Amino acid sequence: MGCELKRLSETLGIELFEVPLQAGWTYPCSLDDIGEVLARIDRADLVGLAKVGLGPSTRKRNSTNGRYVYEPGGSSITLYSFADNLEYSYRNGRRIEQLRQWYYRELMYGMQLDVEGGRVRLKWSAEDLRLFISRHVLLHEVGHHVHQMSRVRRGLAPADASNFSEQLAEHYACRMTAMLFAGCG
Ligand SMILES: [Zn+2]
Repeated sequence: MGCELKRLSETLGIELFEVPLQAGWTYPCSLDDIGEVLARIDRADLVGLAKVGLGPSTRKRNSTNGRYVYEPGGSSITLYSFADNLEYSYRNGRRIEQLRQWYYRELMYGMQLDVEGGRVRLKWSAEDLRLFISRHVLLHEVGHHVHQMSRVRRGLAPADASNFSEQLAEHYACRMTAMLFAGCG
């Protein structure tokens, strides 16, 4: 970890981590990209966040880009690795129109979506993926944290995974991306 990043990590009180990967996998962005985004966020939104970093994807998590875990002692955000050709395909019976809606945000960031013989194929360029993960997905996960902490402050139980908390996280991400990077895509 570079000096600047280490200083930032100490200033924010957030541990930045990167789990080593096996051959054939790559991370969509660097810890520097993560640090650059975190440094721009209002510090109040980061209170209670203990760890942010990069971790290996598993087959089960393969379609997930990131994950937020609430812990009373300090929450964490993990952004997941990708196969190093930056492609992902799966069997699916949905129509292309539905898929285009489903991947609306990814398409805005430049992901390619193809349907061939009942399989969906998603493909990224390294730069588009870097921007999507560090600017959108990271801020989406921070959005989950902001929502969770506001519940905790009001004495409510942590939120379950629901469409509503997804919407709040997406809303936060888009608002922040527009504010911090002048544009949602
Ligand atoms: Zn989410």
